[in-house]
Amino acid sequence: MTRQDRIFLSSPHMSENEQKYIKEAFDLNWIAPMGSNVDGLEQDIAEYNDVKDAAVVVSGTAAIHLALKLLAVGPEDIVFCSTLTFVASVNPILYQGAEPVLIDSEMDTWNMSPVALERAMAEAKDNGKLPKAVIIVNLYGQSAQMDELTEICSTYGVPIIEDAAESLGSTYKGKKSGTFGRFGIYSFNGNKIITTSGGGALVSHDEESLKRARFLATQARDQAIHYQHSQVGYNYRMSNIVAGIGRGQMEVLDERVQQRRAVFERYFEAFGDIPGVKFQPELEGTMSNRWLTALTIKPDAAGCSNQEIIDQLADENIEARPVWKPMHLQPLFKDVKYYPHGEDSVSDYLFKYGLCLPSGSNMTVQDQERVIAVISRILRK
Ligand SMILES: *Cc1c(COP(=O)(O)O)cnc(C)c1O
Repeated sequence: MTRQDRIFLSSPHMSENEQKYIKEAFDLNWIAPMGSNVDGLEQDIAEYNDVKDAAVVVSGTAAIHLALKLLAVGPEDIVFCSTLTFVASVNPILYQGAEPVLIDSEMDTWNMSPVALERAMAEAKDNGKLPKAVIIVNLYGQSAQMDELTEICSTYGVPIIEDAAESLGSTYKGKKSGTFGRFGIYSFNGNKIITTSGGGALVSHDEESLKRARFLATQARDQAIHYQHSQVGYNYRMSNIVAGIGRGQMEVLDERVQQRRAVFERYFEAFGDIPGVKFQPELEGTMSNRWLTALTIKPDAAGCSNQEIIDQLADENIEARPVWKPMHLQPLFKDVKYYPHGEDSVSDYLFKYGLCLPSGSNMTVQDQERVIAVISRILRK
């Protein structure tokens, strides 16, 4: 087995334009610092998402960290976050010495449950300490129930950070994912729908805050010819070379969304009618970029488990994964408060039965037929 015939969950997919922007930077010896690719990429991201401003940084994690800094989250503070997510959503809460509180999912989007959020807010209010922020994650490209969640947060006066690391290009009622909260973040990590090899962006309609984000991301340097500092800063800015990759990728983002959606459609056609198989829903009025095709497999009805499918695919040099392990089940967060959706925890269910299939936009139809053939062998017809 070789890397050539391996099918990845999600691998980088370059167009040809990335090299053009990188070459420009090389030709001008504008490798660093900042520069025209950084400015250009920030403009591209702001325009694409119809948001006032975007600041590009070294990672999505750094963008979340900056958002928490901008909201003055510190020790003694509480921050609510979706439990069903990648650890990068929650780690920045710990960087700030604050206390995470984890909120369950609901079945209609797999994202933050408005019911659990309302319960958590009401209790926090009773305890006399509301959270300083709520981090809402849009899993695998699907937007959370933003109307309901936004209403709860505004009732309690708590700002939202929308973790749209996985949902760049998706929409909710015609509006781009990542633009619903005080801040939104995107990731350009290697496995995301578009990638700069590594990077992220912080977006907001609040230009003053983004100015401050850029300041914090460049070691919080005061206006002075000598190096003067009055606050703690970070080295979080994206390089001009990396931003060049991003500019090329932004040009093909919509095409990538269509390609990922086509991958989903082919899986859906193959397995949509099989008992015990249920794909992540696309809530009415939303459009998911289908970053990863995710589904649940109930072994009783389907005739095999998610783990058996993962193992069989691995034998054929094909990468598949369970869904994210919820944060409240992680050793790191074992003592953290958790609000399930109801009597049963929805995220526990999704973790137990969930499966993510290879979904790269550069998969060929033949690649996908290979995946489908392996799964068809073991699923009950
Ligand atoms: C990838 C990801 C991040 C972090 O992005 P990086 O660029 O890898 O730091 C944050 N949240 C979610 C949900 C992600 O999938």
